[in-house]
Amino acid sequence: AAALAMAEQVVAELRVRCETPPSMLREVAVEMAREMGAGLEKDGGSRVKMLLSYVDKLPTGREEGLFYGLDLGGTNFRVLKVQLGGNAKHVVDRDSREVGIPPHLMSGSSSELFGFIASELAKFVDDDEKCANISNGKKREIGFTFSFPVKQRSVASGTLVKWTKAFSINDAVGEDVVAELQTAMEKQGLDMHVAALINDAVGTLAGARYYDKDVVAGVIFGTGTNAAYVEKANAIPKWEGELPHSGDMVINMEWGNFFSSHLPITEYDQELDKESLNPGEQIYEKLTSGMYLGEIVRRVLLKISLQSAIFGDIDHTKLQTHFLLRTPHISAMHHDETSDLKIVAENFEENLEITGTSLEARKLVVEICDIVATRAARLAAAGLAGILMKIGRDHSVEDQRSVIAIDGGLFEHYTKFRRCLETTLGELLGDEASKAVAIKHADDGSGIGAALIAASQSQYK
Ligand code: ADP
Ligand code: MG
Repeated sequence: AAALAMAEQVVAELRVRCETPPSMLREVAVEMAREMGAGLEKDGGSRVKMLLSYVDKLPTGREEGLFYGLDLGGTNFRVLKVQLGGNAKHVVDRDSREVGIPPHLMSGSSSELFGFIASELAKFVDDDEKCANISNGKKREIGFTFSFPVKQRSVASGTLVKWTKAFSINDAVGEDVVAELQTAMEKQGLDMHVAALINDAVGTLAGARYYDKDVVAGVIFGTGTNAAYVEKANAIPKWEGELPHSGDMVINMEWGNFFSSHLPITEYDQELDKESLNPGEQIYEKLTSGMYLGEIVRRVLLKISLQSAIFGDIDHTKLQTHFLLRTPHISAMHHDETSDLKIVAENFEENLEITGTSLEARKLVVEICDIVATRAARLAAAGLAGILMKIGRDHSVEDQRSVIAIDGGLFEHYTKFRRCLETTLGELLGDEASKAVAIKHADDGSGIGAALIAASQSQYK
């Protein structure tokens, strides 16, 4: 009983420190909007980089023809093709293939990685197509979704700033990734033109906009988090080039690096950050994305177990292992509807090798998952409110509808996260304004989006 009381005390403290009252979330939203403005003002004006994507027109639904996409994000890459029917016929045919990247290629040389990608692409583009489509003198066109930080100079070129996730290929840093891909494709005898280089947030925006012209932003809550939205070109003071015809520019926010003193950061978050690969960076991402939520919960569980022995006299080796508890695990435990919390018990046995937990202890575990996921979802909603604020869509205007397209494994699979995000956004906007705002799950926007942007940037129009 004493152990339980002690553990309950730690959880009660955690709940207080992770509280996100509407007043705090409004401050966060205002600050997000302000940082967006500062990042657009000048390079280095904000931690939120607000990178120009050079995508100045988004797909309209009128695009026609066969286009390819290549999506390189975390551990897999996908190749796909879409046949676009034009005039609102949309995608009349599609095909895709997912390929795992052999781990040794993630830290090898640039030519090996791109050589592998190009060879898989060549296999996908089958032989009869090779003859057919080029007879009219046109090259096939492809869009490349590359979800690592890139400094772009045009819609179809950009140099790699640094690798993230599990990748580290030194000779690729500072190089133009489109040129690398183009060279590798030529070696494979693939006569294709890379028409666009984008990331997954921009792809999600484009993929959703193709079907719905009211889509204003694309957001990812997956392993990491990022957002892209459509900005008025004349609201981007740091832009020195000629203003685009459309008057618009898609901004790749890189919002994972957002920070505000209003963020509810706990001792667990501070330690996680300190021991991470990128201390001091990506603080918003560390509070709101799939790579980290399980790890935060693990840290809380470890502290509780060491202090109170609530899980019994256990071996802490597993519970001490960084990233052993992953977000899909905490999602499964959080959604456990069984009366004796069987799924929590199973997770503890299988992942942490902790057996014989009491029902009271398991209830506390669910509560910890709830605290961490709720904070994440509410802060995520505040970020969305910040974007809406920045583009003047946080209040109702007659006949104006705004849609935010969201993708990523966290949003897709963690039901309570998604529901909380949606409810909180409604809470922040108020009844009137939220009638005109919709959140939509954009399934696989990032791959299709690349093909669609290739289509809208096509050199053959
Ligand atoms: P990426 O961001 O690498 O492109 P995804 O969008 O597929 O990949 O997101 C993968 C992430 O989504 C995982 O790292 C994990 O954190 C989260 N995720 C996957 N499945 C679940 C799940 N069932 N419940 C909660 N989170 C999940
Ligand atoms: Mg992805």
